[in-house]
Amino acid sequence: MSGPHGEIRLVVDGSKCDGHGICALVMPERISLDTWGYANVDREPLEDARLIARARRVVKACPAKALTLVGDPQTSSHVTSPHP
Ligand code: SF4
Repeated sequence: MSGPHGEIRLVVDGSKCDGHGICALVMPERISLDTWGYANVDREPLEDARLIARARRVVKACPAKALTLVGDPQTSSHVTSPHP
């Protein structure tokens, strides 16, 4: 399923993740921790506005800056600019 406005996905950079585990407390429905405490992030697009708002919070909460919201114009630099 892909929306007309593009998709917003939460992704983790495993090389930056330090296993603080904060993200899984803030967003347990999308983030779980593996045996060593590193984040496993559900890569399904975030469609619910409340989930997206929480995802923005979790991106800021990560002390290692390992989380990115791909496709979110408010937080992501990965997205292609709509302006030519
Ligand atoms: S808060 Fe950041 S560093 Fe900690 S487990 Fe989550 S992604 Fe990794």
